[in-house]
Amino acid sequence: MSELTRLFTGAELVTMAGPVLHGATIAVTGDRIVAVGDDSVARAAVHRVDEEIDLTGLTVVPGFVDGHCHLEMTCLALQTHVPLHAPPFTTIAGMLTEIERVRRERPTGWIVFRSSFTLQDKVAEGRLPHRDELDLASPNEPIVVLAGLHVACLNSAAMKELGLERGEGLPYWMTFHRDSSGEPTGTVTEVWDRLPTATVEEAMGAIRTFSGPTFSAHGVTSVNTISTSADDVRALHRLSRAGSLGIRTRFYVHVPRTATIDEVLAWGAESGFGDTMLRFGGVKIFVDGEGTNGLGVPLDDTKWSKDELFDLVQKATDGGVQLMMHAVTPRAIRLACEAVVSAQKLSPRAGNLRHRIEHAGDYLDTADLPQLKSAGVGIVATPHFSVSDGAAGDSFQPLRSIVDSGQAVIGATDATGTVPEGVSPLYNIGAAVTRCELSGTASPHRLTVDEAMKMFTKWSAYGCHEEAEKGSIEQGKFADFAVLSANPYRVRPEQIKQIRVERTIVGGNTVFERATNN
Ligand SMILES: [Zn+2]
Repeated sequence: MSELTRLFTGAELVTMAGPVLHGATIAVTGDRIVAVGDDSVARAAVHRVDEEIDLTGLTVVPGFVDGHCHLEMTCLALQTHVPLHAPPFTTIAGMLTEIERVRRERPTGWIVFRSSFTLQDKVAEGRLPHRDELDLASPNEPIVVLAGLHVACLNSAAMKELGLERGEGLPYWMTFHRDSSGEPTGTVTEVWDRLPTATVEEAMGAIRTFSGPTFSAHGVTSVNTISTSADDVRALHRLSRAGSLGIRTRFYVHVPRTATIDEVLAWGAESGFGDTMLRFGGVKIFVDGEGTNGLGVPLDDTKWSKDELFDLVQKATDGGVQLMMHAVTPRAIRLACEAVVSAQKLSPRAGNLRHRIEHAGDYLDTADLPQLKSAGVGIVATPHFSVSDGAAGDSFQPLRSIVDSGQAVIGATDATGTVPEGVSPLYNIGAAVTRCELSGTASPHRLTVDEAMKMFTKWSAYGCHEEAEKGSIEQGKFADFAVLSANPYRVRPEQIKQIRVERTIVGGNTVFERATNN
């Protein structure tokens, strides 16, 4: 890391640690902030100045910390998957024409098409694409249309490759849809983790090419990513070692896809192992999956028995490993919370590992808030779901109740490639602030701009044990900033998502700068 001394001058500073500072200066040595405040005070804190960056007219906020996303998967999706989102597509017929066109261009091998959540509600036909239609578009080679990560529409060749032709021997939490004559429709839930994975070289290439224009360009300076294979982790490590990982990355190993909990614990690393750019965050598990049959009909797809889950949480707690536990039903959220309470009772000296429940902020029953709070469980929410997931009703994502109960909400973009605009923290902050009921009136669960900003700065940093280094602009913290075209606190709420990120700075170094001609 360079030990250059830099001054960032002239901007309006939203430090998230006190009042807004107008025309203040941030002094940075190496990758850390050494002073923030009046220009003369900041200059007095450094012995020499190597570079001055004038940010007059712009707003500087702490670099955004994405509490939960899929960095590798998103970059790989941009590299190899084919967008098939609705909108712009409005019919299955139109999508099939596009699938045929792409298949002609790529005549052999897997093609993964990425479409939207609740696709059946967003197309004129009012249903998902059928296997027979996909077979016409790609008769011999495997294709899949993902309607969100958890719902797959497969052609016959894809079903054969994945060993799903007859739908026998599947775990109970996968739904295998059949038509009235018993024939598979091609729609299967929870199949994403059986799809082919990328090589380490492919993952490196995808991250190198797309992480900048996708994450850095939206002011993201830190991510908590779910690595779904050992090669994902290798790719992150090789890029970090080469100095070309422009985003501070905390990775969570997927159990059981990548390793069992025993295998993760066997090599001894506790959460936080690593350096300032790449750290081991812990383990991600799915307590349940889609929570429906893939077509909106509620389904208990909990993947663990109570004993299995309690045992895993106990082991992780004893091993100093933080858990990200995906749960999208109140039942699964409650179970995960009870497992944490049990582990804390049996291992009181393990301390609070801040185990988190991913999507708790989207799907919890507010009656469970006191228990979640007393267990110290992290509540994670993805504000753009209120816009992008058509199934979201008025009781969905009760952010106001959570914040008013004194709980922080960890902001997550949950970027995978399903909702391209959702990768932007400002888009999510805007969604949390402008949340509407289904009727179109303002939701009582709207957050203030300050609360929504905290979701993607201080609260998300706390959610991964990094609040001492990230989440605000203060002396001693990393010099990680997003430089914005406007102050989110001063524009109309509906304009927040239009604010441009002009520059993104990680450890004092500019990793993204908007071209001046657009
Ligand atoms: Zn996720």
